[in-house]
Amino acid sequence: MNKVSIEDIAVKGKKVLVRVDFNVPMDKATGEITDENRITAALPTIKYLYENGAKVILCSHLGRPKGEFNMKFSMAPVSKRLAELVDTTVYQAADVVGEDAKAKAAALKDGEILLLENVRFHAEEEKNVPEFAKALADLAEVYVNDAFGTAHRAHASTAGVAAYLPTACGYLIEKEVAVMGKALENPDRPFVAILGGAKVKDKIGVINNLLEKVDTLIIGGGMAYTFLKAKGYEIGQSLLDEERIDFAKELMAKAEAKGVKLLLPIDTVVAKEFAADAENKIVMSDAIPADWQGLDIGPETQKLFGDAIVNAGTVVWNGPMGVFEFEAFAAGTKAVAAAMAECKGNTIVGGGDSAAAVEVLGFKDKMTHVSTGGGASLEFLEGLELPGIAAIPNK
Ligand code: AMP
Repeated sequence: MNKVSIEDIAVKGKKVLVRVDFNVPMDKATGEITDENRITAALPTIKYLYENGAKVILCSHLGRPKGEFNMKFSMAPVSKRLAELVDTTVYQAADVVGEDAKAKAAALKDGEILLLENVRFHAEEEKNVPEFAKALADLAEVYVNDAFGTAHRAHASTAGVAAYLPTACGYLIEKEVAVMGKALENPDRPFVAILGGAKVKDKIGVINNLLEKVDTLIIGGGMAYTFLKAKGYEIGQSLLDEERIDFAKELMAKAEAKGVKLLLPIDTVVAKEFAADAENKIVMSDAIPADWQGLDIGPETQKLFGDAIVNAGTVVWNGPMGVFEFEAFAAGTKAVAAAMAECKGNTIVGGGDSAAAVEVLGFKDKMTHVSTGGGASLEFLEGLELPGIAAIPNK
């Protein structure tokens, strides 16, 4: 990657403001962190900085405090956990750019860490107000962005602050961009993309961009039924995006003209109703009964998709194959995760539901890369420039 990285800048003795993505899920009742992946994903950058004598000032958002101080969304549980994961002292500031943050930032010793309070306690953060970005910048001498999960947002702490300080990216952003960038620019072939999830609308950008690059495009999940409908099949009560049937037709024609193999579900698990314990059966995709709905890909489709995935040089996956939240309709999503785990090529899981599925199934270590950003990875795969990455200067 040609962006300035933390290794390109002098950090010893410097106050380094690092935007991380510590927006971890928490148990509402106990306040316990239920998944600390986002904390551990930021550790390589944090460790590099404190081990090299920087005064590390971390900044993140957590949940949706809507621009007000609300201790329900305090970063305190995160700094407590972080302190257990690093070999240095971690301080927690009581505010973001106020007196406490200023005093604690000024008192930091080389190699110590300060975590600011939730940056979204200030409405100016999401509005990217320059004075607020400047106030953040005034706490430090160098700015590092390592929050891939919010890199698609032009906020004060993700982009605005870069106007006031020497700026570099951290290891996480570097890795996300390197792995997904290679897939888009110079993939090992065959290059297979597999897209699922509920809505065609959300995936149009990514489908259009990937169609120019892949050898095989696989479409599953709820959005596949709009394509089956476009082929002239009856889809019963399955999800349908009526307005996008034409898009689906055009896409199928374009894929054919380009020689891109387009795979759709050949069989489907249909259910009587949308429920975890609904009566269900397997039917061919062109024989979905009128009062049933498709909630997962069928076993023949698992094999069809799985073969393409296992033999790929590069696979990119975003979106579940069915209503995986219900055990009875999770088999298709599990089969895709298992095929990815078996594939010897570069396997990339776009964040969100697919990343969660891979994690739950214990396949995370078998993937080349599991992105920490759902929306951000989707925008990256769409070929869009992410503001948080655009703000980092080139070398
Ligand atoms: P998305 O946010 O677009 O990636 O969609 C994820 C959601 O799509 C999950 O909550 C799934 O339950 C849902 N989904 C996947 N397949 C289907 C389907 N066949 N019918 C209804 N919902 C689905």
